[in-house]
Amino acid sequence: MRQQIAAANWKMNLTYSQAEQLLDNLLSKEYNLNANRKVVLAVPFPYLKLAVDKVNGKQGIFIAAQNCNTKKSGAYTGETSVEMLQSLSVNYVVLGHSERREYFNESNAFLAEKVNLVLESNLTPIFCCGESLDIREAGTQNEFVTVQLTESLFHLTAEQITKVVIAYEPIWAIGTGKTASSQQAQDIHEHIRNSFAEHYGQKVANEISILYGGSVKGNNAAELFAMADVDGGLVGGASLNADEFATIINALK
Ligand code: PEP
Repeated sequence: MRQQIAAANWKMNLTYSQAEQLLDNLLSKEYNLNANRKVVLAVPFPYLKLAVDKVNGKQGIFIAAQNCNTKKSGAYTGETSVEMLQSLSVNYVVLGHSERREYFNESNAFLAEKVNLVLESNLTPIFCCGESLDIREAGTQNEFVTVQLTESLFHLTAEQITKVVIAYEPIWAIGTGKTASSQQAQDIHEHIRNSFAEHYGQKVANEISILYGGSVKGNNAAELFAMADVDGGLVGGASLNADEFATIINALK
């Protein structure tokens, strides 16, 4: 059975004490989590240890990094390796967020290297894909996303691909307050699942969690998550408010 996941992406926000407060608020609430219904908190690097310690193995709640380097270790000043994340008991790494693709020029081929390294280290990549507004307006979003998946993921074995979480995030909906309609989300999630089915077979494709990201809020999460191929969300702005994110967590199928 594939997992339903509410993932928070804090991006480059909050001071240490604000992060501590948000974690305390979030963790003081009750959620109906289990092996198939999870929360993942992608916090800034300086707060990873704090977050891991606060969560302290609480059922169904995991910590993610927002990036990692392609190299295992060495003279790469300012960078963070997967081994470092592993040593902190971080379980997930967000890869290929559109902000990293845009501001740090991360290409599909470069992301494939990160995916390989994260999987080799037994962490779970949350692989982001999604099109810009001009591509959506041209109606070629399915083809665009297929290229992203092909160039970054389709070299993986069937066993490896079931360990990857996909986050479909249309760039025009990220941080803009413009959410894809639940039908738009369902249509492209179905396309993504079909692309996996073509490469790996339907059984494997059915195991892959595909999250939707782009202005998910407490008041639209339930409708989005109810769609057959939407397995939760990757949430930016709304994840910085404990009550709002709790509503989103409780909207998981
Ligand atoms: C994101 O950063 O991944 C995101 C989806 O942001 P927001 O929810 O703010 O649109």
